[in-house]
Amino acid sequence: MAAQSFSSLDKALRKKLEKLGLFSDFDLVLHLPLRYEDETQLSSISEAAPGNTIQIEGVITEQEVLISPRRQLVYRVSDDSGVLYLRFLNFYASQITAWSPGTRLRILGEVRAGFHGMEMVHPKCRVVRDNMALATALTPVYPVTAGLPQRTLIRLITQAFERLRRKQFLREILPETILSACPLPAFEESLSLLHCPPSDISMESLQQRSHPAWQRIKFDELLAQQISLRCHYHQRRNQQAPTLSQQVSLQQVLLGVLPFSLTEAQHKVVAEISTDLAQPYPMQRLLQGDVGSGKTVVAALAALQAIGNGYQVAVMAPTEILAEQHFRKLSGWLVPLGIEVGWLSGSQKKSLRSQELAKTASGATMLIIGTHALFQEAVQFKQLGLVIIDEQHRFGVGQRLALRMKREDESSLPHQLMMSATPIPRTLSMSYFADLDVSVINQLPPGRLPVATRLIDNNRREEIIARIREACLAGRQAYWVCPLIEESEVLQLKTAVETYETLSQIFPELSIALIHGRLGSDEKSAIMAKFSQGAVQLLVATTVIEVGVDVPNASLMVIEHAERMGLSQLHQLRGRIGRGSATGICILMYQRPLSVVARKRLQIIFEHNDGFEIARQDLLLRGPGEFLGTRQSGVPLLRFADLEEDIDLLEMARNVAEEILRDYPNEAQHHVQRWLGNREDYLRA
Ligand code: ADP
Ligand code: MG
Repeated sequence: MAAQSFSSLDKALRKKLEKLGLFSDFDLVLHLPLRYEDETQLSSISEAAPGNTIQIEGVITEQEVLISPRRQLVYRVSDDSGVLYLRFLNFYASQITAWSPGTRLRILGEVRAGFHGMEMVHPKCRVVRDNMALATALTPVYPVTAGLPQRTLIRLITQAFERLRRKQFLREILPETILSACPLPAFEESLSLLHCPPSDISMESLQQRSHPAWQRIKFDELLAQQISLRCHYHQRRNQQAPTLSQQVSLQQVLLGVLPFSLTEAQHKVVAEISTDLAQPYPMQRLLQGDVGSGKTVVAALAALQAIGNGYQVAVMAPTEILAEQHFRKLSGWLVPLGIEVGWLSGSQKKSLRSQELAKTASGATMLIIGTHALFQEAVQFKQLGLVIIDEQHRFGVGQRLALRMKREDESSLPHQLMMSATPIPRTLSMSYFADLDVSVINQLPPGRLPVATRLIDNNRREEIIARIREACLAGRQAYWVCPLIEESEVLQLKTAVETYETLSQIFPELSIALIHGRLGSDEKSAIMAKFSQGAVQLLVATTVIEVGVDVPNASLMVIEHAERMGLSQLHQLRGRIGRGSATGICILMYQRPLSVVARKRLQIIFEHNDGFEIARQDLLLRGPGEFLGTRQSGVPLLRFADLEEDIDLLEMARNVAEEILRDYPNEAQHHVQRWLGNREDYLRA
């Protein structure tokens, strides 16, 4: 049969292929087997042992349809060495007549011990014809979808392979010098081996994807990802950005008034950022640091470097509360230095807002803070030099946003500093974040005690209430975090209000306040201010306090229905306490029954305080797709490589990507083209 091209395949068939994510010949050849069956050998029935999958050949000696305990078709088959039973629970009437006693079958299946002896349930059977040869290669078993049987898929893959081979599409792209340093088999041979492995291959190495052929596929996939992201990284260096010289004396003034000195880790990242800002191309740096590691002061120092050079700075935060808090903290630090700090809020009066906007446009305001949403509308700057995005993991945007900001001189781009308290495991940042520079604050300020975490069943509320009362009467402050209700914001709000009312009755002697996302920003900031000053002892809150809120005297936190929350959310919440001198205590209340995943999450958060370790466990639990969330949507996830398992390949791919981009740009381009083809989004990142 003449092989058609992919695009001329029957429409219904193409639809089914698309269901499997197959849109081209190349997709078809990359549709790799889930597992294999060994039909290259025949065993005798006497060798059948429970648990083994074997192929035997025998003649049907009896056939029977049983009615009880349920309808089933049973065959008795024998060879020279023994007897085996075949059991079919689902069968067609035609099958009863098709194979009558005397028929010789070749049978592949898993052996188990049955009532009468060894048996196979629903084995794969074929009637033996004259001289039917044994397979010479392992038989692949592909992921399929309804209406697309193995046979058809095998045929389509074989044809696609042929077409691509003829077009030399699968030929080696990587230059000899590069390959000689990576001990991997050729790409085409690797694919061909995985679709059709020789019978003497180690099945285990295929199953575990450790066979060199698998390694090559995974390496090429990682390499395509690395090349495209690194390419993007290098392209950025051809763009213009203001050269912001270091402002040591200005920074010294701020450092001089801080009530603490920077940790070594903070010094290190400040220096990294400072060097970047002095370059003539835009910085794109991700600053990672666990909750409470002190990223804000690092941001302030970076801002000073821009401002000292006469450039403006925009600071974005995901929530109004956080933006407000940054506004207070940063104005507290910068206004005494004669720097005007502005503030955009969704709820501020129109006249005030236009005033702020005008001052930003004229260049009077040197640092302007607002929620992310507010910067979505174009804000006009005079000379924007640096954009700081806090808690970057909360938005799906990043890069493109800064470009939208209006500047008088649009020939140069602002530098960008993204900050994240959701630590990204090293493997993830090496792969999906390869287009960014990464700085890590790997140290908490001195004197921080790890927060003690307790897991407490919902029905022991009384104890918790006693604890809260005791702590607050002793002068400490506490958070009470209301349950997350994902399905309905209204319901969540209702629950928060009810919780607040109940707690007010329980604690008549305490001053209690409620904060939630629906309050106006003035109300929110008034409440947060009271809590900061200690006028409010117990703050009942929805998860709006999740990020960034900083009240050192609050040392106790109760989280209701912790089993509903994600790991990074729990870690963020818990990070609100343990910031002062008293040991923080975080009480996670949970409601039984717990799902397996919820139980695992609670166990992880209970056992670990280190955000990086929690993130690593989270990645293991959820896989990179969910972990990354919306942030990198548009970037195809890795299909073959596994970031935990294939760290060596990832490192190799990273090095090779740099080398090939430098020495063989055409081959680099070609490799990415082959892997990513029409997925251009990826290239543009
Ligand atoms: P995060 O990294 O979570 O944004 P913050 O910047 O809010 O952390 O800092 C947490 C708290 O630690 C703040 O009160 C801040 O003033 C304080 N802090 C920051 N750096 C240091 C330091 N080197 N020594 C002591 N306290 C510090
Ligand atoms: Mg912060």
